[in-house]
Amino acid sequence: MYIKTIFREVENLLEQASIPSPRRTAVWILCDIIRCSPAHLISREGDRLDQNHIIRIREAAKRCVAHEPVQYVLGHTEFGGLRLHLSPAVLIPRPETEQMIEVALEAVGSGSTLKVLDIGTGSGCIALSIKHALPAAQVTACDISDTALQIAKKNAKKNGLDIRFIMADLLSYDFVHTVGMGYDLVVANPPYIPDSEHSQLPRIVRDYEPGIALFCGDDPLAFYRAIAESLGTGLLSQGGTLVLETHVDYADSVGMLLQQKDVSQVQIKPDFAGLPRFVIGKLL
Ligand code: GLN
Repeated sequence: MYIKTIFREVENLLEQASIPSPRRTAVWILCDIIRCSPAHLISREGDRLDQNHIIRIREAAKRCVAHEPVQYVLGHTEFGGLRLHLSPAVLIPRPETEQMIEVALEAVGSGSTLKVLDIGTGSGCIALSIKHALPAAQVTACDISDTALQIAKKNAKKNGLDIRFIMADLLSYDFVHTVGMGYDLVVANPPYIPDSEHSQLPRIVRDYEPGIALFCGDDPLAFYRAIAESLGTGLLSQGGTLVLETHVDYADSVGMLLQQKDVSQVQIKPDFAGLPRFVIGKLL
């Protein structure tokens, strides 16, 4: 079978199943399995594939048709130029989060030897990207999930990035004691989807991504409140910067919460879609 024939077959299957971006997903599956770059796929479309490749491509396509995210099917993704191993124990990094990292880097300036904390690191995408951009920074990443930490550690090792990993529960009374104090930059993309929105999420998210990383119970501010409280016990250094990703409906509330905790220069920044998504502030 020719590459172009199996490509059309996979694209059609994905399209019929209403999978978002069927063409891009088909390119992703084929390139991963036959090990070629998207740019080379067209020039190779007349090549014949062996049976083993065809079987693997069809198996991957079948899982995607069942609404399993292609990143879990293939077991990895690209994020800000880093290759990250993924499993359903961690959220698939979103383009918005890549944007949050830009916001954070812009807020702290470059070349500084910062002490950085990423709360709820998941795959490690934020911590790794910051360490990659600021090699002199001392980056700590924490998560409540041991499985997530194992994945983040593997990702740090594979990308040659030296990061300290700690298991910690943001909602626990001893959070600051566990992760330490005096960070110059604290970043977090905590769970922010209220349980009541569960049924509104696309199946691809709802059925496969980890609920522990997505849902915040009934209180959409629960995790932000815990972060704000920990500022009072020295989590952030004087002059330190806080950068948080939020639900579009609650960015204003998170901003107000921080102002109540004496965070200065609170700003709300929009994501690519122009929606209020990132809250930044400084402890002066
Ligand atoms: N942005 C993610 C989504 O919409 C949610 C991430 C989170 O809860 N922190 O699926």
